[in-house]
Amino acid sequence: MELDLDLLAYLITKGSRHIEDAVEGTGYLPKTVIGVGTYLLDNEGDVDLLTAKQKVTFEKFLQPLMFDVPCQGLAGSGTCQGNGLIEADLLLKCYRDDEFRCRSCRPE
Ligand SMILES: [Zn+2]
Repeated sequence: MELDLDLLAYLITKGSRHIEDAVEGTGYLPKTVIGVGTYLLDNEGDVDLLTAKQKVTFEKFLQPLMFDVPCQGLAGSGTCQGNGLIEADLLLKCYRDDEFRCRSCRPE
């Protein structure tokens, strides 16, 4: 699995509210997830270096934020013109702009 390190760096710093939202009500602490993210960043995103426990945290919170982000379509979820997920290379832009749309749902 190839991680987008720029996206990861964004999520554990400026975009940490997305992590906070994801852990809410789960009993996990944002700093635990951010800790795993920092470790990955320090190790060039090599998921194989994670301990079993870190891997669970990664798969539960970071992976969905980096790979399985639903497109909100032009008029809310369910109106996506694509396959319902945002392309990986657009994700950082989506987080930055706070506009979660896949390529098919963007004008131009
Ligand atoms: Zn879409």
